[in-house]
Amino acid sequence: MIESVTDYANQFISGLSTVKAFQDKEATSLEITNQKRSLSELLDLYQKQVAETGINAASGKHLGYIPGGGVFTAALADFIAAITNPFASVHYASPGAATIENEVINWLKTIFSFPESSVGCLSSGGSISTLIAFTAARDQHKVKNEFIPKNVVYLSEQVHHSTQKALRIIGLEDVVIRYISLDSNHKIKTDSLEELIQNDIAAGLQPFMVVATAGTTDTGTIDPLDEIADIAKNYKMWFHVDAAYGGFFIMTSKKELFKGIEKADSMIIDPHKGLFLPYGVGAVLIKDSSAVLHSNYYTANYMQDGASEEMLKSPANVSPELTKHFRGLRVWLPLQIHGIEPFIACLEEKLLLVHYFRNRLADLGFCLGPEPDLSVSYFWYPFETDADQKNKQLMDAIHADGSVFLSSSIIENRFVIRIAILAFRTKKEIIDEAIEMIKNCLTKIK
Ligand SMILES: *Cc1c(COP(=O)(O)O)cnc(C)c1O
Repeated sequence: MIESVTDYANQFISGLSTVKAFQDKEATSLEITNQKRSLSELLDLYQKQVAETGINAASGKHLGYIPGGGVFTAALADFIAAITNPFASVHYASPGAATIENEVINWLKTIFSFPESSVGCLSSGGSISTLIAFTAARDQHKVKNEFIPKNVVYLSEQVHHSTQKALRIIGLEDVVIRYISLDSNHKIKTDSLEELIQNDIAAGLQPFMVVATAGTTDTGTIDPLDEIADIAKNYKMWFHVDAAYGGFFIMTSKKELFKGIEKADSMIIDPHKGLFLPYGVGAVLIKDSSAVLHSNYYTANYMQDGASEEMLKSPANVSPELTKHFRGLRVWLPLQIHGIEPFIACLEEKLLLVHYFRNRLADLGFCLGPEPDLSVSYFWYPFETDADQKNKQLMDAIHADGSVFLSSSIIENRFVIRIAILAFRTKKEIIDEAIEMIKNCLTKIK
């Protein structure tokens, strides 16, 4: 069985340069019945119904949403983790696995200059990381019961929608949400933030939390973190940074843009984006361990055997999860095998590729969004009439072609097409292919 799976994996990976990035097809024949099927039959079925339907997210031609890829050695780590199945949440149950989880968090703390006393955990992704961070913010600020509608959260319109979702899920649907004005580069205007805060204080409300983004999903923008941090501190607010997409660019030539992230009370980051790991690994870092322990640390009679251990050695005490996937290994193993340099080199390459892509688009007569901080940008064609509708037709033509995948959005009330270059397999040849395809699709609309 290992041989068949290895053959399948090799075929899949060697085929990546020629397959389509997007196939708009339904998946069928996947129901569970009482009929047994052979592994080879199932691998065929998987290829046709899973690998060849929708977006090929392992492909370097995935330039939509936020891609990543899925580093091969992380798959080996998952295999080993599943075979050995250690209980990574409780140090007593698996000192080795728990330590690997903790070492990944320690590594992240170092990258973002978070103090040793901060805590964190690996989650399934950015959305769950946000829930964990906001819960700590809520508990530290005692935002509950009748105080909820008096507390104010300050957001950018460009914040990821998991932010508003998290507020609802953790019972903060009734907080006041204020949207801060943005400048022409889609960055939070700090004078607007202060003005909102002062108005709210004058109205008897309580400024509670401000969320900044280090790499927005739509425009790849980094908010002025350092200034926002100072404002948050002045008004005793919780400062959260969403670095799910952009965080790992702190290791690149863009480091300066991240100044102030170390002042955040909490931050999230997705190794399944900027470290190119397979989907299913995010992380959260939080400064105030007591706020995290408040909702996540709990004891039970059946847990007494390991109860004398130091609390923070066990990931379960700082996370809502108990029994869980040993995610640490899929981060730890690739970093140990490859070292960090290739990851940084890939990130630098993505920054160069987005410039190259934008230049080529400009040559074709496209309008471009502002110079991006990172590797996400957007564009539209300046059709003289019905521009939104025609750009939508262009998007549809690009999806129908499918050789390279891009996605769309609405920015400042305009229909735009996004380019998100992050997959580690995305190379210059793929950008050239994307340009040719866009050029070809454009001729169908004009
Ligand atoms: C992807 C993303 C999220 C959500 O993370 P998931 O891992 O998809 O749950 C949050 N914020 C930003 C900026 C993102 O790009």
